[in-house]
Amino acid sequence: MGYAKLLEEWDDLLARRPAFREPLAPYGALLESWARWSEEGFLRLRWTAQECQERWQREVPLLSEAPLSIDRDGIEDLVATSLELLSGLGGHDDAIRHFAEAWDAGEINPAALYPGKGRIGAARLEEGVGVPQEVVSFLACGTLRPVLDAYFAECRSHLTGTAWAVGVCPFCGAPPGFADVTEGGQRQLACHVCGGGWVFPRLHCPFCGHQTAKDLVRLDAEEREEGYFISACLQCRAYVKELDRRVRWNAGSALIEDWGSPHFDLVASRAGYWRPLPSLIQLARRAS
Ligand SMILES: [Zn+2]
Ligand SMILES: [Zn+2]
Repeated sequence: MGYAKLLEEWDDLLARRPAFREPLAPYGALLESWARWSEEGFLRLRWTAQECQERWQREVPLLSEAPLSIDRDGIEDLVATSLELLSGLGGHDDAIRHFAEAWDAGEINPAALYPGKGRIGAARLEEGVGVPQEVVSFLACGTLRPVLDAYFAECRSHLTGTAWAVGVCPFCGAPPGFADVTEGGQRQLACHVCGGGWVFPRLHCPFCGHQTAKDLVRLDAEEREEGYFISACLQCRAYVKELDRRVRWNAGSALIEDWGSPHFDLVASRAGYWRPLPSLIQLARRAS
């Protein structure tokens, strides 16, 4: 999807929820940086359906075997915007300094932010460079999204309903950022790191694979909003927000609905649940 369209949806959402306009302003700046990124001279992945499906049958996300090397200069604006967002939240000064120094010195490259098995970003970013996992996850999304989105554009249609039943994105390998219940009643997980989506069983935890019904709960917000709910797992304590499109047929894209519903993140955080890709609330809470 084009980022001009996402910006439009974001404006619509803020019009619907004007109280969030100010606290969520950083997301608008991030979206604008994604819209500014130019695909010129960038090579998309041209794998055939067969080449993609061969990886998916082995439960391998495409990115882990794809020959993608992102030019550092091409994403400087994205890196700068993401670091500015963190800086504006306050409390992340050490992480920002550590990341910026290592980046400027060429010690880390864009690939260090790629999702890997069981985590987002290379372990050495956390252990060696000193950037907390939460911040690494945020930076991966903030700086890679438009690039990976373009990279996988030609391969999206190769994913068919049953080809992938894993809890991470079949394209980039990141954990889901949001879930939609589609018109047909299926659960469609959304990846914020590359913009991918995939169908996943409704009664499985995408984060740990747990599937005992009594351990998969719905958290209730004080002010309920029809169609929105929070699914949480008592085993791994992770949660994902979901939106039933059969009730909310005119809602925005998964990313927009996720960013635009921080009140549900607050409910989940207060109840002691976490999400792999932090929202502004989690990043700001860490800061205070
Ligand atoms: Zn992805
Ligand atoms: Zn779980």
